[in-house]
Amino acid sequence: MNSSQKLPESLDNVTILVAGGAGFIPSTLSEFYLKMGAKVIGIDNFITGSRSNLEKLFKYPKYEFHEMDIIQGLPNLSNEKIDYIFSLASPASPIDFKIIPLEIMRVNSEGTLKLLDLAKEKGARFLEASTSEVYGDPLVHPQVETYLGNVNCIGPRSSYDESKRFAESMTMVFNRFKGVDTRIIRIFNTYGPGMRPDDGRVIPNFINQALENKDITIYGDGSQTRSFCYVTDLVRAIHHVMFCGDSTPYNCGNPDEYTIKECAEEIIKVLGSKSQLTYRPLPIDDPKKRRPNISKLNSLSGFKPEVSFSEGIKKTALFFKSLKKERVAPEELSVW
Ligand code: UDP
Repeated sequence: MNSSQKLPESLDNVTILVAGGAGFIPSTLSEFYLKMGAKVIGIDNFITGSRSNLEKLFKYPKYEFHEMDIIQGLPNLSNEKIDYIFSLASPASPIDFKIIPLEIMRVNSEGTLKLLDLAKEKGARFLEASTSEVYGDPLVHPQVETYLGNVNCIGPRSSYDESKRFAESMTMVFNRFKGVDTRIIRIFNTYGPGMRPDDGRVIPNFINQALENKDITIYGDGSQTRSFCYVTDLVRAIHHVMFCGDSTPYNCGNPDEYTIKECAEEIIKVLGSKSQLTYRPLPIDDPKKRRPNISKLNSLSGFKPEVSFSEGIKKTALFFKSLKKERVAPEELSVW
């Protein structure tokens, strides 16, 4: 079924709550909905989100922001009509799993519970931003939503992957037993302007190393694969699921798959860098392969990613250059 007609043209009378609103994906999503005319309420405690991601949002009169930790509570929204809630508050980088594992587990359990209770109270539709990490080190490739995964529940990534599995489970409980209209997406590797330059992930590391002609640090032999989605494509995918999907999980990402070595070589080429490759130990439980099967999302709404890897890398590099105070023309800094 092609249900693309169900996508709204305008959201003038709609209020959207974005938990984790200062993160790079949530802030891009917030801008997308502000452009569509919605009122957007962001919440963030800045544990990994960035104040600079909010600057573009405050230009819209219908943007409201609360600095809060959703583990502790939510803002007073008693006079507010809330139509859609996006649960996007979890830190998601492998370096975060080492530094703030308990915060990750608590936001995906206690924090998500508070958002689900709010969805029930307000009659809002709720979307849980889950992750490809629920597939662990997958034994099925590409990953389909029906695959139940290969997760090490006591491994160094478990604070994130197990708590996201729990969040999915709790979302389904609210759907089945409390009548809440819910969505679950599983986000695959995403990159773009607004990422933290020091978040330790492969794309910021490689771009920043390439921009400075420093050695590119490949973990392991670089034969492990990832499939990288530019952030605006991801935002469109999330939008399609929220408005056209059902309560079952949807993979959201770009199925173009690269080995990490190919990824480094492509970034060196696109940025005209003189960097060389250098090799470091592979982290424990680093998934060997990752690629989404997005047939389910595609048959729901015709969704396809549009931004090529080289185009996305150029835009992301311009963003990182601007953070280093290099001169970049303002029109070149648009994420869209
Ligand atoms: N990686 C790498 N060099 C880096 C950072 C990451 O080779 O400087 C590898 C990492 O080991 C993994 C892949 O790149 O195989 C993607 O890592 P990332 O941290 O971006 O996200 P993940 O997909 O592991 O959550």
